[in-house]
Amino acid sequence: MSHFRSIHRGAYFAELRTTAVRKLLPESWGFMCPVHTPDGSPCGLLNHLTTSCIVVPNEASKEDRIEIGIINALSMVGLVRKDIKDIDPDHDTLVQLDAKYIGSIKTRDISSTVSYLRMMKAEKLAFELGQKTKIDELCQGVPHDMEIVYFPYKKGGIFPGMYLFSQGARMVRPVRQRSSKAIEFIGTLEQSMMSIHCPDGGDGGSRGLKFTHEELGPQQMLSVVASLTPYSDFNQSPRNMYQCQMAKQTMGTAAQALPHRTDNKLYRLQTPQTPIVRTQRYPIYSMDEFPNGTNAVVAVLAYTGYDMEDAMILNKSSVERGFAHASLYKTESINLSKEKGVNMQFKSSARKERPRAPPKGAFGAEYPRIPVDQSKQFVESPIIDSDGLPRVGAPVWTGETYYSATDTLTGKSKTGKLKGEETAVIDQVAIVGHGKQNEITHANIKLRFNRNPVIGDKFSSRHGQKGVLSRLYDDVDMPFSENSGMRPDLLINPHAFPSRMTIGMLIESLTGKSGALKGSFVDSSPFQSAEKACGTEELSICQEFCDALETAGFCKTGGETMVCGVSGEIFQVDTYIGVVYYQRLRHMVSDKFQVRSTGPINPLTRQPIKGRKFGGGIRFGEMERDSLLAHGAAYLLHDRLHSCSDYHVTDICCKCGLLVSTQNVPHSASTAHGVHATRVDTSSSRGRTICRVCESSKYVERIAVPYVFKYLVSELAAMNIRCSLDIKV
Ligand SMILES: [Zn+2]
Repeated sequence: MSHFRSIHRGAYFAELRTTAVRKLLPESWGFMCPVHTPDGSPCGLLNHLTTSCIVVPNEASKEDRIEIGIINALSMVGLVRKDIKDIDPDHDTLVQLDAKYIGSIKTRDISSTVSYLRMMKAEKLAFELGQKTKIDELCQGVPHDMEIVYFPYKKGGIFPGMYLFSQGARMVRPVRQRSSKAIEFIGTLEQSMMSIHCPDGGDGGSRGLKFTHEELGPQQMLSVVASLTPYSDFNQSPRNMYQCQMAKQTMGTAAQALPHRTDNKLYRLQTPQTPIVRTQRYPIYSMDEFPNGTNAVVAVLAYTGYDMEDAMILNKSSVERGFAHASLYKTESINLSKEKGVNMQFKSSARKERPRAPPKGAFGAEYPRIPVDQSKQFVESPIIDSDGLPRVGAPVWTGETYYSATDTLTGKSKTGKLKGEETAVIDQVAIVGHGKQNEITHANIKLRFNRNPVIGDKFSSRHGQKGVLSRLYDDVDMPFSENSGMRPDLLINPHAFPSRMTIGMLIESLTGKSGALKGSFVDSSPFQSAEKACGTEELSICQEFCDALETAGFCKTGGETMVCGVSGEIFQVDTYIGVVYYQRLRHMVSDKFQVRSTGPINPLTRQPIKGRKFGGGIRFGEMERDSLLAHGAAYLLHDRLHSCSDYHVTDICCKCGLLVSTQNVPHSASTAHGVHATRVDTSSSRGRTICRVCESSKYVERIAVPYVFKYLVSELAAMNIRCSLDIKV
């Protein structure tokens, strides 16, 4: 949804060196979210509309009627339709509608005209919303989303006049008129000419200014995603920006109609919860239908070394109880009709396979990688039914056949094997009809992969505090509260707070704890104190929850005396512990890990190829080389860069230093050439190696060099560049 409510300024602006285009301007207040923009190069260029912003639809067919309606309404308040040449610039003000000159109004009447039009706009809106049953005929003609901009005459100012806009593709947002308390839609240009009161509790920094309008609420300025961050007014602004990024990467509930969907890739949290601490916007967007996290008991504690630097410790028992369990759905679409000239049909294969070894572990957690029992006879695949499609619920191992098709004419069969490294479960098989044909040639097979938390998976609270799971601690080894005996689900390091200043997370922890004890949800909308009249109540946000904690028998500051789970000693200081809503992010080790002992190589350079998909290696470049050199790990360096990369043994002549001049001469041929050999290679029957330049094999030695180096020397030789090595034997 946030994708559909985003605006990109265009690729041209991204190249500009100036920062002006990325800045927040007064006219974008309330229309564009100041928080929800990515950091980095698209910052400020990719913006998101606020929750209250509406884009006016284009109604070209109604344009004429709207124009007549507006002119009629204006005629009642003194619009004179005379020629543009005849107007008196000292006393008349130009009126333009959608950039067309329509007449002029006496300058002294203009402010009353503007308020009259605004009143009509508000009336029309109230009528359209059904709040009013009757409406004046003149008001009927004025669209509720019309933009009324009045630029008064000012020396050196903008060209004065009244500019009206009624066409589509404009952004409008609701504000309240102070005098009548009626809602009115305003546009971007008119906003900069209006005095709108912000609910900051004070006078908005402009004492004595006569406000004509006021904002509906402080959350009007935030986008859909940004308004879901609890206590975002207590956080440092970049943290809220990070949360907006991460909210889109959470594994949550992406859709309700999962059985009817065939997504290419879809993550799903199996055990989501509704957050205890939530903003007012949360129920408005029906986020309970799409929950994307879990309430976790979080202790802020440096416990062992496993939670340093953004790493976090999870309670193993919590995970076993289902904390952050998730699945990945992938759909394989098989379309046999696309294969030209073949009459393929799904049919059980005639070819039989060896039976699988029985699975180990519960729920398929430890399926063997090569599931073949070599001792048994070939049998039909237990996964594939007689129709050639897999049985729903069947586990499929990597490389295992899970569907088969047979050519009705030739009898040749074709099978599909499971790609990737993970074991899948057949979640759903959907056959796709083709109208006239009776044969089924198209099927969507939905595969389910288990993605329960493993070490290295990414988690985040709603305050841009992301962390990586570093260890699953046994329940008995976790610290526990002396008071209640409660063990936390999650441990994070206190060093995550001072530099990031996510005070919102501390407050969420406290209010979440209080809410959990009381059994009620906590409103965590930002700028609550601003809404409550004035700054005097600022402290009350926490006070209310602190008192509730104290009533429930806890320390009102959220700290608790904790006992070390390993040694049984009481910690010297109180530990801050509370309930924080944690999201599981979809960056997982299972998708990213890259291991290689040996594998495919580039045929030209004989170096390992890159890319996880192909079983390639990770690039070990110059900087990595330097760091190993600096550590004095020369042997490791040699092992990585040479032995495990493109190890190659070749001949070199030590006299002339050439790699390319050596030539292997078979035994029989060597005598024919008449070359006198002094060094005879007796170990093999490969003959002797001679240097063609020195015409001798006396100085030829075998050396190990990276193959790319030999390749480089050969390439240079082809360009008449001699490359000789100084070899000391
Ligand atoms: Zn030589």
